[in-house]
Amino acid sequence: MDWHKLKGLLESYDEKPFRAQQIMKWVFQKKVSSFSQMTDLPEILREKLEKECQLTTLILAQRQKSQDGTEKFLFELSDKNTVETVYIPSDDRVTLCISTQVGCRMGCKFCLTAKQGLVRHLMPFEIVSQVLEVQKQVSQRITNIVMMGMGEPLDNYEAVIDALKILESPWGFQFSQRKITVSTVGLVPEILRFGKDSDVNLAISLNAPNDEIRNQIMPMNKKYPLKELFEACKQYPLKKNRRITFEYVLLGGINDGLEHAKELALQIKGIRCKINLIPFNEHPKGPFKRPSDETIFTFQEYLINQNITVLIRKSRGRDILAACGQLVSQHYTEKFLTVH
Ligand code: SF4
Repeated sequence: MDWHKLKGLLESYDEKPFRAQQIMKWVFQKKVSSFSQMTDLPEILREKLEKECQLTTLILAQRQKSQDGTEKFLFELSDKNTVETVYIPSDDRVTLCISTQVGCRMGCKFCLTAKQGLVRHLMPFEIVSQVLEVQKQVSQRITNIVMMGMGEPLDNYEAVIDALKILESPWGFQFSQRKITVSTVGLVPEILRFGKDSDVNLAISLNAPNDEIRNQIMPMNKKYPLKELFEACKQYPLKKNRRITFEYVLLGGINDGLEHAKELALQIKGIRCKINLIPFNEHPKGPFKRPSDETIFTFQEYLINQNITVLIRKSRGRDILAACGQLVSQHYTEKFLTVH
């Protein structure tokens, strides 16, 4: 529950609204695991909450550490489904990449999660509990949140909005909106709605400079082609000094040529944006290849010369399949890798 819903519940108990702030602080800031530990609540309220409510957590099923310090956490949900969360510490920030669905139905051809299909949406508490549980396990404070793990966040719209409220709340995790990024394949109606409902950063998984290539690697493009997507980007109500991030996975021989860079530069003209280039992370079952370093730098250099901000994202956690597009529920990985 976010603060508003919790306040409503407490009002139904004839309690004062400030009790909701107290409870949120206990859960998200002091990280207690039972109502009985909330010592500034009246005893009678603690007993009622114990009886009628649940402080649910995720079960940590596995924790793997990469040579580069990235860690992948596998969490078990109450129905035994699992999701993955990736902890990425670096010099200037500590980022947590969280999941919003078990599996995903967007079908991106380069993504291991897509092979699982959509199993179910995560509930708001399952989204925010990934932050809570990882923060309990690590000593460094998590500074940035990216919703780029398993699932398409805007396909689980209401739960993601509720989770964002908790992440941003002064009684919740207190993340500034600038430190949270939600990534989408480009669900046009939801992007326009999201622009009105939230002020966090928006990233779009673009990956192609034209519909022909994008249709091949991202089936959702057939529903929302680039013309509509770029139009939505132009209409998106960006705050001052903010930009849309286009994520562009470079797939060897498919979308990484100089001609593609030229087409891309023309397509994004007029959109306040930056581009993150992500050299493809090869995985055992994928047909795609990582381009050569020379190809990657040529692509980047062309865009920089067009005055576009372009970063090459360093791949983290490749040795533990924690990099972009490599997340998948553990028991599914075993089935997928050994049976199919
Ligand atoms: S890349 Fe993202 S949206 Fe596409 S299938 Fe994978 S998890 Fe879903």
